Amino acid sequence: MTRYIMRLDDASPYRDIRNWDRVEALLDQFGVRPIVGIIPDNQDQSFRRYARDEKFWDRAQNWQAKEWGIAMHGYDHVYISHCSGINPVNARSEFAGLPLGEQEAKIEKGLAILTEHGLTPRVFFAPAHTFDHNTLLALKNKSEIRIISDTVATEIYFRDGFYFIPQQAGAVRKLWLKTVTFCYHPDTMNEAAFDELQRFLQMHANRFVALSDLVLKPRRINLLDRGLAWAYFNLRGYLKPHKDQRM
Ligand SMILES: [Zn+2]
Repeated sequence: MTRYIMRLDDASPYRDIRNWDRVEALLDQFGVRPIVGIIPDNQDQSFRRYARDEKFWDRAQNWQAKEWGIAMHGYDHVYISHCSGINPVNARSEFAGLPLGEQEAKIEKGLAILTEHGLTPRVFFAPAHTFDHNTLLALKNKSEIRIISDTVATEIYFRDGFYFIPQQAGAVRKLWLKTVTFCYHPDTMNEAAFDELQRFLQMHANRFVALSDLVLKPRRINLLDRGLAWAYFNLRGYLKPHKDQRM
């Protein structure tokens, strides 16, 4: 039986509060606790179209208290390379291709900001889904985070000292995999997206699990995972798994 994980991207003081509140109310209604990716120091100018929420950090603490999984979503969300790294979803990155020292500094500063606001991230995922081996090394050297939400596989797996919770879809859909993460950007959700999500939750809310529900086992990646990842990156036009995954 497939289990689903909800992931919300791009939480920061600069966000569409109405949309975020609406997603939160919907998830609360169905008892779904997502993984939420928080940008520690959001310098991505595309978010400046939203008014700054001075109460953001209180909200984030409230999410943590509700057992939402807290994730560090990069550091400043500014794309400074055209590398796609080891999860080549996009050809731009805040991390991939950068020297280890620079990546360590981002991890260290990001973690300090989240910690200062009372948050304990257990998960990391990079802006644009792009990171490389140095990102993993930086996380090892500068944090206790050992879980990555990203990459394509059939189920959670363990590799290079990290648990990878695969992230295969940009919107709710039935997929015949063991663990499926749906990645949403509340800022850009429209009526149709809310309707689709609500309908899916009405049918399948009981299949959603929270980060705190997961018992992580050191499963190795297998042939099926490799085949799926190959298909995902080579048949993307056909599978359209990343619709709307612009960030
Ligand atoms: Zn993002």
